[in-house]
Amino acid sequence: MAIASYHCPACRRNIAADRPRWRCECGGPLEMEPGPGLSRHDIVAGAASLWRYTAALALQHPPRVSLGEGWTPLVRREWNGAAIHFKLESQMPTGSFKDRGTAVMINHLIEVGVGPIHEDSSGNAGSSIATYAAAGGIPCRIYVPATAPRAKLVQIAACGAEVCAVPGTRQAVTEAALAEIGRSFYASHNWQPFFIEGTQTLAFELWEQLGFRLPDNILVPTGYGSNILGLERGFAALERTGEIIGRPRLFAVQAANCAAFAAAWAAGADGFVPFSASPTIADGIATTRPVRAVQVLRALRRSGGGVVAVAEDEIAAALRGLGARGLFVEPTAATAGAALTRLLRERVIGAGETTVAVLTGHGLKATEAIGETLNTGADRGARG
Ligand SMILES: [Zn+2]
Repeated sequence: MAIASYHCPACRRNIAADRPRWRCECGGPLEMEPGPGLSRHDIVAGAASLWRYTAALALQHPPRVSLGEGWTPLVRREWNGAAIHFKLESQMPTGSFKDRGTAVMINHLIEVGVGPIHEDSSGNAGSSIATYAAAGGIPCRIYVPATAPRAKLVQIAACGAEVCAVPGTRQAVTEAALAEIGRSFYASHNWQPFFIEGTQTLAFELWEQLGFRLPDNILVPTGYGSNILGLERGFAALERTGEIIGRPRLFAVQAANCAAFAAAWAAGADGFVPFSASPTIADGIATTRPVRAVQVLRALRRSGGGVVAVAEDEIAAALRGLGARGLFVEPTAATAGAALTRLLRERVIGAGETTVAVLTGHGLKATEAIGETLNTGADRGARG
């Protein structure tokens, strides 16, 4: 495949993706130019990973690094009288959906020649990037909030990456990582466009696993919005080849305690609006300053979906409900269940529609917080 190129919506420049680059020279976030699209005949049916969609990805070569990411289960469970499809992104190699984006981004960086990398993360992207960097032999440093769940910090350290715990807000962690640019390449999952090149495979998988049909609704726990943008890009790729007509409604799910997109949505704004945030058990989506707010809001509006902000007690109830169905996920992922309850009750989505709830991260990522929230005997026993 020819070398892919980036487009900068701010200064309208096109730039070849021929070297490690995390943003445009003007300072704006870059986007990938549209790829060739994907038709069902392009799928490598024997590959039980996201590499079954290699034809649609903007890489030059077959992957140098893979841990079997993608092709995660789509299981059906009853939820308040509706049959819901739960997409178990929690069953990725590192236990979160991030591996889709990371695997494609790291393979791109290897192709164009990268040295040591660093990144900031609430935890899951950090574990994912540390893991794939280790697999690719790339030195790696990860900046995380000092309050990140211990399991995520341990996961990063276990891969041999340097863990830099930063006190304060999630934004303070980002500032710390930005200050290190020059020492190593900033492999930011929120900035580097190949991350969304990877998350678009979620759209391909849902379409293929539903028998080459689109769902009506997709609910996605959303912090920065890389899954929303990935779904938008993936469905656009399927549209270009005539495989699909129309789009599913996309619902971004946020914790009400920290809901940048809900604030913008309520204000009818095209981009970021100031809002106040407080701590939430859904640490993975506690984003105070989403990088691509304009693009995410546009994708939600275009899809006819919206934003749902759920309270802490609704998240706890959803954790219980998911657990009772054999779906052990982290609180961040449980927000999708909470939103499901709300949207079904308010009849925004109908019981007869095809609805997917994306479960983004595994429960083993956050056992302490889950134990405290559910006040389980297991937790008390562990502490006593
Ligand atoms: Zn630019």
